[in-house]
Amino acid sequence: MSWTNFHTHTTFCDGHAEPVVFVEAALEQQLSVLGFSSHAPVCFPNRWTMNPARVRDYHREIMRLKELYSGRIELYCGLEMDYFPDILGDCQSLYAGVPWDYKIGAVHFIGAFPDGSRWCMDGSGEAFREGLHTLMDGDFLSAVKQYFALHRSMVQEMPVDVVAHFDKIKLQYRPGDKGGAETDAEYRRELLLTLDAFEASGCVVEVSTRGIAKGNLDDFYPGSWVIPEMARRGIPVTLNSDAHRPWDLTLGFDRAAQALYASGYREISVLRAGGWQMVPFGPDGLML
Ligand SMILES: [Zn+2]
Ligand SMILES: [Zn+2]
Repeated sequence: MSWTNFHTHTTFCDGHAEPVVFVEAALEQQLSVLGFSSHAPVCFPNRWTMNPARVRDYHREIMRLKELYSGRIELYCGLEMDYFPDILGDCQSLYAGVPWDYKIGAVHFIGAFPDGSRWCMDGSGEAFREGLHTLMDGDFLSAVKQYFALHRSMVQEMPVDVVAHFDKIKLQYRPGDKGGAETDAEYRRELLLTLDAFEASGCVVEVSTRGIAKGNLDDFYPGSWVIPEMARRGIPVTLNSDAHRPWDLTLGFDRAAQALYASGYREISVLRAGGWQMVPFGPDGLML
């Protein structure tokens, strides 16, 4: 039995250790496959995405480690790419021409301020509230609708292997917001529509334990209630922790594997031997 993880961030973006430290930690935590997914550069100033000047060095370093650790662990070099409906080409030109092993698609930015700066869903609560009031008239449900609509267009316009943490906006909900709570019927309707789009696109959707590892959410992305809905649609899943620290590589995986199994999943999608494969799993890991 072993685990895999395709969503990790090192010092090439906003992670807290160099890639080699992650590889050593992965070996200690019984991973048989480890993927690196630095935040792809974006075409505007931003502090947590990769510097465009480091893209080639990042790829070269993971390729060096792949060679060095060959036979002990399978390593892959990917990106976590942001989706933008308006500036996608300009951003993609910053990381084109590199043979990435896989691509994770994510929506962190859900709008732009009048001065052109971007509204981020995944930063501080204050920054999110500023956008909510300036751009959405304080209406959280409108932000939720925009966020899920961006995911639906992402899987049509920007083909990716895996969709990241697609309900992470729930973390920004505050009691007193009018609508948009995870338990609200309107929220659930938007989310389920998004699952239909994922099903149609054939992408893999990650179940992320990032909230459990970080200690700010006692559930997964997407939430536990979503997993049976994904199973019912036959949407393939992979198990990730969005690790920014080497010791977060498998935190919460046993719990997530149990939730997946209880929802009817018997296989998890894994990039292995150069292609995405379905691998049987149990509560203690994948049968690898
Ligand atoms: Zn992300
Ligand atoms: Zn990430």
